[in-house]
Order: sequence, then C-alpha cells, then structure tokens
Amino acid sequence: MWPAGRSLARPVGRRPEPWEKPAVGGDHAANLSGPCARRYRPGMSRISPRPSVRRLRTTLLAVAGALAVAGAVGAEPAEGTAPAVQTAPPADPMQSIGSISVGHPHHGFLINGVRMPKGEQWILGAPGLAWGTDETIAALMHCARRLHEQFPGSPKLRIGAISAERGGPLPPHKSHRTGRDADVHFVLTQRTPKKWYEAATAENLDRERTWALLRLVITETDVEMVLIDRSVQALLEEYALKMGEDPAWVADLFHGSPGSSSLIKHVPGHTGHMHIRFVSPVARRRGVLAYDRLVEQGHVVPPSRRVEHEVVQGDTLSEIAAQFGMTVEALQQANDLESTVIKLGQKLTITERVDIKGARDPVVVPKRRLPPQPAAVAHSAQ
Ligand SMILES: [Zn+2]
Repeated sequence: MWPAGRSLARPVGRRPEPWEKPAVGGDHAANLSGPCARRYRPGMSRISPRPSVRRLRTTLLAVAGALAVAGAVGAEPAEGTAPAVQTAPPADPMQSIGSISVGHPHHGFLINGVRMPKGEQWILGAPGLAWGTDETIAALMHCARRLHEQFPGSPKLRIGAISAERGGPLPPHKSHRTGRDADVHFVLTQRTPKKWYEAATAENLDRERTWALLRLVITETDVEMVLIDRSVQALLEEYALKMGEDPAWVADLFHGSPGSSSLIKHVPGHTGHMHIRFVSPVARRRGVLAYDRLVEQGHVVPPSRRVEHEVVQGDTLSEIAAQFGMTVEALQQANDLESTVIKLGQKLTITERVDIKGARDPVVVPKRRLPPQPAAVAHSAQ
C-alpha cells in the first residue's frame, strides 16, 4: 500500500480529450477553466515564456546528491504494487532517483516519468500521453487489477490521458502536467462503447463496477480529488447508499462535511470519465528537494517576467544585475546599454525569474477517507 492522501482543487470546465483534436480557439476555448480545460487563450501574452524541461543529461549527479543528502524522501510503494519499470540498474544516475513531479499540476513538469504499460485489465486511449509518476502508474494498475479481481470478466478499464513524457503543457487539458492527473473512464454497460468518449447516463452506467472502481481509488490509493460531473455523481451516490454504504461516509465524499470539502468534485462535462489527481507524495517531495538543482542545471527552466527598475542613488549596474540574478551583459543587452554607466531615474527593464507555481509547496498527504470499520465481532475466548 502507499500512503494516504487527498485535497482540493477548483472544479470547472468541460474536458475534450486530446484525441478529439478540438480546433484551437473553438467551442471549448471560451468556457473552460478546470483542470482538464483548454489553457490556450487567443492573444495570450508571451512576455513570460512558458517554462520548459530540457532533455536530461547524464550529469545529474548533483541532483541525486542533493536528494541523498536530504535523506529518505518517503516511503516507496509496497512490494508487489510498483509497476515493472526497470529491473537493471539504470545507466543514467538521474533515472535512479525515480520519478520527480515538479510544481502544481497546472504549471509543472514530470521528470523520469513512467509510461503506463499495456495490460490485461486496461486499455490506453492515448499511449503517448500515458506517462505518470511511478506512484500514479502503480495506483492505476492496482485499481484496474483489483477491479478485475472483484469482477472477473469485466471489460478492460479505459484509461485516457495522464501526462506527456516530460509533463508540461498538454492541450487541451489545463492540468495533466506533472504525472499526477489521470482520466479514467466510467464502466458502461455496453461492452463496446459507441465511441471512446461516451457520456455515462442512467441508462448505460454500470453503477456496480464504476462505484467499485471509485471506491478502490478512494480507499486504496492516495488521491487529492476526483472530478466527476454532477449528473454521474448523483447516480453513483444513489447506488452507494442503496447497496448499504455508510451514509455519513458517502455524504462526506460527495458533499464534504464541516471543516472538510468533498473529495469528489463537480466539473461540468466530466460525464464520460473521472479525472483523478493522485498525491504522489514521493515524486512531489523529490521535486521540492531537487528544484533548485534542477533549475541550476537547466533541466527545468522556470518562467520569467519583465519588471522595470528605476535607478536610485547608489545603484550600480553590477549590483542591480546581482539583485535580479542576471549577468551585467544580459542587463546591458536588455536595455541597449553600451557601457555600465547608468543615470539616476533611468528605467531599466529586468527579466526576473520566478518559480514554477507550486514548486516549493509543502507536500501534504492527507489521511485517507475510509468508511467506518464494521462493528467489531465480539471476541469470545470461551
Ligand atoms: Zn483530466
């Protein structure tokens, strides 16, 4: 088993699948803002270039060293649950670190991602976009296998986008950038859905298997949240109560309770799949610990922004450059300066580097929301 977790995030937006290839700026563009929603906005300012990840080199010993010095980064998934990723020692020391999830799922990157393999219990809608942290992939495989254990002969679980190999932008999704988000389709009653993205309805939703899947995700993996359209939530909630699940537990999952927001959140359009955000605490912790080294060595290039600095009494070009982490040459170039002479009141354009959003956020692994234990059977020694 892996540790427990969940948290929140703002819902919204409907979610076209990457293989649907919606036209840029088309119908979806205007009303999307959720984790799966289109990020592109026509006329978007490019002053701050998007961050990017450069191809990994074999020289990241310093990063490995940083992690080693920092000590254990967390518990690895239990034996038998981790995906069969590599059996031989990797030639690249960077890869020996394991998956690194950098930043918020809307802004970050994935390093050393693991690709979801083919499986007997699942099918991938977009194999090229099926990269996740090792923890995410292990969790998905675990749930698919457990579902088939519970319901032998079930159709293969249909898994859509996770992340690109190195994470980063994954249009039309707004999130799915750090190997922690996965789109998993609801189980439908027809064995062969009419199309890959088929909405679940009261008529076609296999409530028994879909509830079992959702239950597995919530109780046996670490998730921050699960996004499901309200129309499907209603069907699943009704089914869960009907089959005898604890009403208070079910209410907490779907509606939250005092001091705790719901784990399952409504996002319009999530009628065909659930969007699961896994915690991936180990990969995230690695991302926090290694962030500065990854930036220093150019493996992660954070965004930057332009600011204006007005020269005040006592300023020198070298001090200003140092203050903003620039070289004097870069500062001269950005401002067309032929010398290091600056004047009081002169306005200089500065390119200031900013952190990838969420890159230094503390990693929180919330307690899993588990149903109450069945009443203890009276123990009789007699
Ligand atoms: Zn999604």
